[in-house]
Amino acid sequence: MDEGDPHIHVERRVVRADAAVRNLLASTFGLVADAPSTVTTGCGRRVPYAMTSPRPESVTCLACREHAHREHLRFADELEGLGRMAGSVVTPDRAAEAARHHRDLAARFAG
Ligand SMILES: [Zn+2]
Repeated sequence: MDEGDPHIHVERRVVRADAAVRNLLASTFGLVADAPSTVTTGCGRRVPYAMTSPRPESVTCLACREHAHREHLRFADELEGLGRMAGSVVTPDRAAEAARHHRDLAARFAG
């Protein structure tokens, strides 16, 4: 852990840290993730959870912003695939709405 690091990072699993996804996973799979005390970041550091944020406006580490941008785009594609699956518990409408949310986040991380 780098005590002198002033940056706010994203969790490596930034998509899972997003509240909307947390809720989606909880309702879909019955999973509820607790916030850990330290996390691995998108840029490969180990930092206190308090030094990370899922909000694009708060993240100052450039490598983490790029990581989050890629992850949210990738997850948006996954969601659309999930919505198209026959018998999926996630309806196409809901999947498309969630995918839009993640494309929006990706764009904000890129900005
Ligand atoms: Zn970082």
